[in-house]
Amino acid sequence: MAQNAWEKVQALTAQLNRYRDEYYNGNAPSVSDAVYDRMYDELALLEMETGIWMTDSPTRTVGFEAVSELEKTNHPIPLLSLEKTKSVEELVSFVGEHQILLMLKLDGLTVKLTYEDGKLAQAATRGDGDTGEVVTHNVRGISGIPQNIPYRERLVVSGEAFIRPGDFHRLRETLTDSSGERYKNGRNLAAGSVRLLDGAVCRERKVMYMPFTVVEGFPELGLKSEKLRKLPELGFQVCKFVISRRSLTCQEMEDGIGKLRQFASDNDIPIDGIVASYNDIAFSLSCGRTGHHYKDGLAFKFEDELHETKLLAVEWNPSRSGEISPVAVFQPVQIDGCEVSRASLHNMSFIEGMELKPGCRILVSKRNMIIPHVEENLDRGDFSLAEVIPDKCPCCGEPTRVHESRSIEDGKEKITKTLFCDNQNCETRRLRQFVHFAGQKAMNIEGLSEATLEKFIGRGWIHTYMDIYELDRHRNEIIQMEGFGEKSWQRLWDAIQGSRNTTFERYLIAMDIPMVGNTASRTLCRQFHGSLEEFEDAVHHQYDFTQLPDFGDTLHNNIHEWFYDEENLYVWEVLQQMLNIEINSPGDGMVSVSENPFVGMTIVVTGKVEPYTRSGINAKIESLGARAGSSVSSKTDYLVCGEKAGSKLAKARELGVKVLTPEQFFRMAGE
Ligand SMILES: [Zn+2]
Repeated sequence: MAQNAWEKVQALTAQLNRYRDEYYNGNAPSVSDAVYDRMYDELALLEMETGIWMTDSPTRTVGFEAVSELEKTNHPIPLLSLEKTKSVEELVSFVGEHQILLMLKLDGLTVKLTYEDGKLAQAATRGDGDTGEVVTHNVRGISGIPQNIPYRERLVVSGEAFIRPGDFHRLRETLTDSSGERYKNGRNLAAGSVRLLDGAVCRERKVMYMPFTVVEGFPELGLKSEKLRKLPELGFQVCKFVISRRSLTCQEMEDGIGKLRQFASDNDIPIDGIVASYNDIAFSLSCGRTGHHYKDGLAFKFEDELHETKLLAVEWNPSRSGEISPVAVFQPVQIDGCEVSRASLHNMSFIEGMELKPGCRILVSKRNMIIPHVEENLDRGDFSLAEVIPDKCPCCGEPTRVHESRSIEDGKEKITKTLFCDNQNCETRRLRQFVHFAGQKAMNIEGLSEATLEKFIGRGWIHTYMDIYELDRHRNEIIQMEGFGEKSWQRLWDAIQGSRNTTFERYLIAMDIPMVGNTASRTLCRQFHGSLEEFEDAVHHQYDFTQLPDFGDTLHNNIHEWFYDEENLYVWEVLQQMLNIEINSPGDGMVSVSENPFVGMTIVVTGKVEPYTRSGINAKIESLGARAGSSVSSKTDYLVCGEKAGSKLAKARELGVKVLTPEQFFRMAGE
């Protein structure tokens, strides 16, 4: 028995340490926080019951040793974490009779700033709490960190560097991590960006900084809240907090947490919990610490709730690149009020790693409350990959091919297996290509939906992108089609004609070069002055794309390989003749249009937004490359809510449309 317990503790410790290393050094955790926390709790309980623990146990050490090439620095006052809880009762009893600060627990990377004589002297990551990495070279790329402050004494603050969820969703389109995979969440991307060796790249990533503690400075003040309130005068935007009355009921605590949560969601701030800590500094110090955490605070962690269900089937869907992606179909479960029954299984390796097959009991969550994800298989064993993987494409019946890509992770080689259909004429694959081409970010042809495209392709009218611009040949037949009439044909044809006026970025996205999405096409547009010709010329002259920010070897090769294909080159040239590509020279306002988060969005204004008139603010919106809507609908991306807002606000809340104050709107617009 003792032997068993010892082995179990050892195995859990090793596994948790592997996850911690992925989290802190690889920027790509392979399990969700919920799974990590479950294992952590199991280990902590086991250690307590058996009295056995490893010296490197995650319950006794913080973070993980930093392994990058960045210079290291010691923290004279250790930056430890806080004990965690998921129970409001525990939080309430922790508070007792004391006044507490209830604060957002920002989901990013902790960074400590040291100011000497009014100047920023050093920025460092937390690392393992005692030793962090120097990232001073990156702070100019992070907004919210003043270089100079009007306070001459030594000041040390710690805070969080993070990426707003809205920005993350735009960035993740094209950025990939060290193993070539998309970033799974904003925290990893923020951590990766702050720890980059190249300061210029960090700037592109829209990383923000908010301090949450004054570690040194203002010694005359006795409350944490008093010290924090000094920071805005110095140019910081402090992490949102509230101060409690002494002693709280569970209901009051829940309300407080709820309000902070709402604030974070309204302001597009990523959090993974709430922190409670004693406001009185003298009392806080008297609480002491362990090697792992300070005892004057408690973190209330939100978790991705795990739901048990049964895997019914694995569906295989060919994508436009030919990759056949697996999707889990499971018995529906309710998560956050939504019924969920499907989740991506990413690739063959994911299925293999989890030993998934129909009939298994699985745990699913909605990661970051958005993306359904299969977290664990409760019935592992007796698994054979060959039984689950189809040897023929489910769409065209051609034999499938297994592709293996290799990457280095933790110094070890990692192989990722994906399934492909190589048939260029595979129908689902072709349909997806046309859907992408007509999509909002590409040619933006409204009304050319997947269902419509399917009909047109089925009738043999569309073989190439060019055929779309000659659909009027089939006008007479189209207006006879079910669901189509003179009017809807005219609307569609107008949209097709309208899309002839397009931009470098849209054209490039429409061409569907693997991994060239919003961000990459914007970078290329800037680099080649909005000229497709200049870009193509560079390709023919073996341009090295890896010199561009966030362009790795894979992206570089993708571009060259794409142009190497005769058929692609033919479409590239012929289609351009049919379009009018607006050439933007740098500095003519194009830059500001492409660099704000509102491009392509629909924004509705309600109430009064000083100093603008209604048509003035609408013109402002248009100048940002966005559409000014008149009423709130499910297609509205943002509601800017000025003074005396009317029913539009209620409607926006009901539909879950993001609401911005005029200040937030102007700040995001870069003013
Ligand atoms: Zn196929």
